[in-house]
Amino acid sequence: MTARIIDGRRIAAELRARVALEVARVQHESKLTPGLAVVLVGDDPASQVYVRSKHKQTQEAGMASFEHVLPADVAQSDLLALIARLNRDPLVHGILVQLPLPKSLHTETVINAIDPAKDVDGLHPNNAGRLAGGYAALSPCTPLGCIILTKSVHPSLEGMDAIVIGRSNLVGRPLLQLLLNENATVTIAHSRSRGLAQLCARADLVYAAVGRAEMVRGDWIKPGATVIDVGINRFTGADGKTKLVGDVAFAEVSQVAGAITPVPGGVGQMTVACLLVNTLRAACAIHGLPKPGV
Ligand code: NAP
Repeated sequence: MTARIIDGRRIAAELRARVALEVARVQHESKLTPGLAVVLVGDDPASQVYVRSKHKQTQEAGMASFEHVLPADVAQSDLLALIARLNRDPLVHGILVQLPLPKSLHTETVINAIDPAKDVDGLHPNNAGRLAGGYAALSPCTPLGCIILTKSVHPSLEGMDAIVIGRSNLVGRPLLQLLLNENATVTIAHSRSRGLAQLCARADLVYAAVGRAEMVRGDWIKPGATVIDVGINRFTGADGKTKLVGDVAFAEVSQVAGAITPVPGGVGQMTVACLLVNTLRAACAIHGLPKPGV
């Protein structure tokens, strides 16, 4: 079997186009322009690339984009003061602090300072708790993207066996909750799990969010399963060029799986598109407007 490739680029482009249409409608009907503020601390090259891409895509969707770049040695009190200003700013409906932060800053304190209504990364404990309780919440963007990609293959996930490998607050845990909301039966695995290959072998849906290049092998996968690769692992090839590989051994797994996301061109594309969705939803909620159609 050769797996169907789930085209994250195309699906993300379609989602961004739908967001842009909804933004235009909200602007026309309610004179509201959703605004996203991104805060970057330091000069990590990968973070700079992400922030530039967020800025461009936010503007292309017709939203206002505000960028705040702070030096790596910024005092935590200055960063918290900026977040407090953004919390009060009526033009800002979404606040994202690009992670990871420099070690001198306390990430949890910074995240907790964001107004939960503007927490478009879905990391504030209020949103994480609401999601875990099955209530409406702003949910982290990468797991939202994983669900959309899965539903491009299986419109209903009800009763399907899913395994999520990785239990981070950013990906694994919220993905578990979103899958439960879709009525899937979910196993969550981590570095202490035993018999990972056997756990994967019974899953209809496999999500790898580990950060270990090509860890998930072809003989772990049930024939026909859908495999969503969240991992982004960078390495420099013999030619000196930086390459990206996922947590899934793509060449092997695509011979067994029914559908699979590539790296790059899979989940990564969805994360920013879902950030735009969250910003639009946050803007509508803050202004008491009905939930938008995306
Ligand atoms: P993380 O915080 O480092 O979490 C990694 C998880 O993998 C942990 O729960 C860890 O278990 C588990 N793990 C580590 N080694 C394992 C092993 N041998 N077997 C089973 N589980 C193992 O990473 P993250 O932030 O969730 O990110 C995961 C990957 O996704 C990274 O490659 C990251 O770059 C990528 N990512 C991509 C996007 C995107 O937009 N595509 C967004 C976010 C992250 P313990 O909890 O036991 O330590």
